[in-house]
Amino acid sequence: MKEYISDRVNHIDASGIRKVFALAETMKDPVNFSIGQPHFDVPEELKEEAIKAVKSGFNKYSQTAGDGALLKKIAQSIQKETGWKNPQVIVTGGVSGGLMLAFMSLINPGDEIIIPDPYFVIYKHLATLAGGKCVFIDTYPNFELPVEKISRAITKKTKLIIINSPNNPTGAVYSQAQLKALSEIAARNQILVMSDQIYDKFSYDGNCPSIAPFYENTILLKGFGKSYAMTGWRLGYAVVPEHLKIIIEQMTKIQQYTFVCAPTPFQKAAIAALDYDVSSFVAEYKTKRDILYEGLRESFELVKPKGSFYAFVKAPGPNSTKFVEKAIANNVLIIPGNVFSEKDTHFRISYATTDDKIKEGVRILKSLA
Ligand code: PMP
Repeated sequence: MKEYISDRVNHIDASGIRKVFALAETMKDPVNFSIGQPHFDVPEELKEEAIKAVKSGFNKYSQTAGDGALLKKIAQSIQKETGWKNPQVIVTGGVSGGLMLAFMSLINPGDEIIIPDPYFVIYKHLATLAGGKCVFIDTYPNFELPVEKISRAITKKTKLIIINSPNNPTGAVYSQAQLKALSEIAARNQILVMSDQIYDKFSYDGNCPSIAPFYENTILLKGFGKSYAMTGWRLGYAVVPEHLKIIIEQMTKIQQYTFVCAPTPFQKAAIAALDYDVSSFVAEYKTKRDILYEGLRESFELVKPKGSFYAFVKAPGPNSTKFVEKAIANNVLIIPGNVFSEKDTHFRISYATTDDKIKEGVRILKSLA
């Protein structure tokens, strides 16, 4: 039946993360280090806001680009963070929705997209769907922003550089100096930077710097799902400075013909979320990071993660897939590195789970090292 399916889709593979996630359903009480979402629930106050919105009748379509009050509030907060005057905003179905709309709006067949490797898995497949060519830049073994290598990889065809800090899957947080250096290279070559900052609240050793204040040809992507544990609410947003307004206009045009709008009652609740303080959750996650890192560092090679809720750990032995199979057979779900990388040397741990589960997982992984 493959002949029914488009070449476009045949060129991409189902997410390796979802395969492991599906496996978790069939296991009895596994240590689930596989999925990238907070283990706590949406704060009660924000749930109440969503219920209130449903009961007050905010159940119809919103404007395509998003609820007016939410757009205004996002624009204000981005203006404060970046110094951009009159930022242009679209609210999307998760950051994934924003990524899809951005790729559709920007990428022509043959355009090159520079992506530090390891990378969030969606970038590669959306690039392929849009006909773009990924140019992966190896960041092993320290996973810092490879500014010099990026500079050398730029060609006439380079359309976009994608950065993601705090990073999925490595936990890296790029320094202000690295981001500034990248902005100078991008400016010299007039290249757009897409900055995926979905994990920006989860930065454990100081605030997470952004490239946006230094570089005005930036498309900023942020989300609600990870920050407030509402991944199922499907809310994210994309923002550009005013002179790039055309990008948001084109993304809005495609949203009109695809997702139509992000879920209206949740958009209403998101207005309150922007004022909600998540620092206590972040403090808990910092403790989890420390438990995991201290637990594994003597038996495994790993860089201390500075943000997000992932660690990217070198697998013992020649490839990670074999080690991952062994871990799963011992009730620990982890993701092989080749899901996020052109290499298969590491595995990803999501430590968004209880402290007890982290300790149990560490004990089992150490016994397999
Ligand atoms: N960007 C990164 C780096 C992510 O890790 C994820 C989710 N795993 C997303 C974007 C997509 O998030 P959302 O659920 O908002 O679509």
